[in-house]
Amino acid sequence: MQQLDNEQLIQTAQQFGTPLYIYHSEKITEQHQKLKAAFYKPNTKIFFACKALTNISILTHIKNIGCNIDCSSINEVKLAIHVGFSTKNILYTSNGIAFKEIEEAKKLGVNITIDSLSNLAKFGEKFGNTYPLSLRIRPNIMGGGNLQISTGHDESKFGIPVTQLDQILQTVQQHNINVEGLHIHTGSDIDDIEVFIKGIEVLFEILHHFPNLKFIDLGSGFKVKYKATDKGTDINLLAQKIYEDFENHPAAKDLEIWFEPGKFLVSESGYFITQVNVIKHNEEATFIGIDSGFNHLIRPMFYGSYHTIKNISNPLGEAKEYAVVGNLCETDTFAWQRKIEETKEGDYLCFYNAGAYGFEMSSNFNSRFKPAEVLFKNNEPYLIRKRDEFEDLLHKQIMI
Ligand SMILES: *Cc1c(COP(=O)(O)O)cnc(C)c1O
Repeated sequence: MQQLDNEQLIQTAQQFGTPLYIYHSEKITEQHQKLKAAFYKPNTKIFFACKALTNISILTHIKNIGCNIDCSSINEVKLAIHVGFSTKNILYTSNGIAFKEIEEAKKLGVNITIDSLSNLAKFGEKFGNTYPLSLRIRPNIMGGGNLQISTGHDESKFGIPVTQLDQILQTVQQHNINVEGLHIHTGSDIDDIEVFIKGIEVLFEILHHFPNLKFIDLGSGFKVKYKATDKGTDINLLAQKIYEDFENHPAAKDLEIWFEPGKFLVSESGYFITQVNVIKHNEEATFIGIDSGFNHLIRPMFYGSYHTIKNISNPLGEAKEYAVVGNLCETDTFAWQRKIEETKEGDYLCFYNAGAYGFEMSSNFNSRFKPAEVLFKNNEPYLIRKRDEFEDLLHKQIMI
């Protein structure tokens, strides 16, 4: 298994300063190979959901290992084109966007998934059958780690509810729209394979209405382990079940199967290194105050994510119970009642599984700098984003 060791992490933190995001390109390659091995059939295509991590050096690596790319905004589409992805390997899974972004994506020539009846009708009126589309269907099933990261249930904003099939078909027929794909994505951190199977059942019930269909896009939500007791998605079993389902369905067996993993490809490749500013002892807890906050890693506060945290400066230290908190003027607790190797001021704490939705969701809250990013390739660390400087805080502001 590809992993960076404590010495590499500490040396890199000393060289580039903290807080620091470090990624490991060989780990990304390894995850991609795992997916390719599980989903081995040539009719299966993998698109990296790049909203998890869009640094252009990462995107270049993703392209070089032969992976395709899934984008959530027109700017991500432009980043993908910027690093040289061919437009046929770019998918734009839009959600709630202005129609003019869809027009722009069409002009760029990328694959487009539409997720509202309103944009579908606008597309039909303007372009008829001149450009193929896929449709994001909301299957009305519950999947994913918790409600905030579930996207397929009947209160979710995502997709066109399958219960509105009549309206979908009416719009498609009226404008003779060329629907080549059906898409579902029911959430993140899905360890229950049944959720994927149920989603497939929903699509299988409607696919005969779409005679031009070429692919079914099953989105993602593959769960990776955040701690030892976690159960990740068993992708080998999942692949076997999905292939069985497709082979047993006469109208589906010749379709391509697309996936859009984000976390699965990059989560474990990332390490977030922070340094300890202060230790505070009080009645309720011993606080470890680090040189970061939810301005750099918001997942624990935003949707209760668990990140393993280790004191990489004292890996053999006796474990004690701590609360790990940030330096913001706001409650920014990364972990409460957490066992961590005995820690003193100046130590380096490493957050694992920091590759997906880490830097990507960072901000300049409290007018603090965004961290630098480093990519390890062939055991060498390369700076791939400089740390902010004071000028960056002023850059876009106008004094009147
Ligand atoms: C976020 C997202 C993904 C990736 O989800 P992960 O849980 O990171 O694998 C895939 N498809 C769509 C449409 C998404 O919005």
